[in-house]
Amino acid sequence: MTEEPVVVLVEDDPNIADLVDMYLRQSGYRVYQATDGEAGLRLVRDRHPKLVILDVGLPGPLDGLDVCRQLRSISDVPIIMLTARDGEVDRVLGLEMGADDYVTKPFSPRELVARVKAILRRTETPRQDLPSVLEVGSCEVDLSRREARVDGEPVVLAAREFDLLAFLAGNRGLALSRRQLLDGVWGPDWIGDERTVDVHVRQLRKKLGEAFPLSTVWGVGYRLD
Ligand code: CA
Repeated sequence: MTEEPVVVLVEDDPNIADLVDMYLRQSGYRVYQATDGEAGLRLVRDRHPKLVILDVGLPGPLDGLDVCRQLRSISDVPIIMLTARDGEVDRVLGLEMGADDYVTKPFSPRELVARVKAILRRTETPRQDLPSVLEVGSCEVDLSRREARVDGEPVVLAAREFDLLAFLAGNRGLALSRRQLLDGVWGPDWIGDERTVDVHVRQLRKKLGEAFPLSTVWGVGYRLD
């Protein structure tokens, strides 16, 4: 018998917490709930969850961003932040503090569960087990030949464009900030403007067209669906 993956949910609004709890249980997760940051940190230490869902606006001395920062100093557990619709700054800060993704309130519990699954799929697949050909829409990203194909036909990409495509394909379903893309593709030491990412994205969109299901995530960056 396999054990249900544990999710810690830190949310002070009981209506949202119960709804999310119900959907996660139906999808086969074991859920532990906390309603403030300190209790949330304790639960993570005690329960060793596979993933944490963290509301930004929490009562008490620690808000969600504080909790995120503290969690990152003790653990690499994936974190999804719940943010308010107008909380663009929170979203950016959350990702900068190491959150893996965010969902904006009001959200559909179904979408949240889909994000949870996407993140766990990625974090539970060891890097070396990644197939050498990733499929993204009708586009194939062949990592060993360093070749992108649309409907079987190779598309000529610059080296950096291919690297960006491969990085996005390896992190499908996750909202990535321009900074994360720069770090992942250009390397953390690369000095330059974040608009570099936009320029390369424009090229990929032009060359791959409809085959490239990339969404712009306002205030953050991009997500490959
Ligand atoms: Ca709240």
